[in-house]
Amino acid sequence: MKVFILGDLEGTAGVVDFKSQTYSDAKYYEQAKRLATLEINALIDGVIAGGATEIWFLDGHGPGGINYELMHAEAKMVIGRPISVPWGLDPTFDAMLLYGHHSMSNTNCGVLCHSWSSRTIDNCWLNGKLIGEIGLNISLAGEVGVPTIFISGDDTAIAEAKEYVPDIASVETKVGLSQTSALSISPLKSQQLHREVGEIAMRLIGQTEPYHTQPPYTFKTQLLEATALKSKVQQSHVELVDDRTYQVRGQTLVEIASKR
Ligand SMILES: [Zn+2]
Repeated sequence: MKVFILGDLEGTAGVVDFKSQTYSDAKYYEQAKRLATLEINALIDGVIAGGATEIWFLDGHGPGGINYELMHAEAKMVIGRPISVPWGLDPTFDAMLLYGHHSMSNTNCGVLCHSWSSRTIDNCWLNGKLIGEIGLNISLAGEVGVPTIFISGDDTAIAEAKEYVPDIASVETKVGLSQTSALSISPLKSQQLHREVGEIAMRLIGQTEPYHTQPPYTFKTQLLEATALKSKVQQSHVELVDDRTYQVRGQTLVEIASKR
């Protein structure tokens, strides 16, 4: 069985801060990446125990979210930028797994919650419904015909994923106390759970359906500051909604993801 792991850094156990942990100039960035890699490796051990024979890993954290030197021997890594959606995901994959994800921007007590950019984006909507990375990633995989069977991250990230896939397997790495504080499990416990739940998640293949959405699509982005809108609205496919909001339209989510 062939699986695609889409990873991020904000959902890792012990990671709660942008400035000191997840930005590329953060003092503890290397440590955060190491913690994430150890959890991903445990997850890979789990999916292999559950029957996976080919594992692709895409590093979805902007400046990089893993330590390549420590990466599991069996992972094939999709690396470098630019990389266009759907990142090589195609119907030959049996499942997608979301590692280390965070909830959408403005989620109450969502640890490191944001929608694509913590520095520039306030809110996003797909066809009028608030959406973040978890929702769009699950929907994109669904459009390709691939079910999402696993998520790890804080309690709010898991709740967000369950709105799309109610029976998704999950590892709750922490409970949010604010956007930058949490009650976190230890890295060792988190690794153990990633291994155990990764194996269990593989049993959902054949049971969990790819998430279905209905075209056509309108994707709206509200920026934090009106000044950031200038360069965006110069593109011909971008429509201005108000002084800090723009939207794009498309017939597929792949199209939406490349335009937004
Ligand atoms: Zn990230």
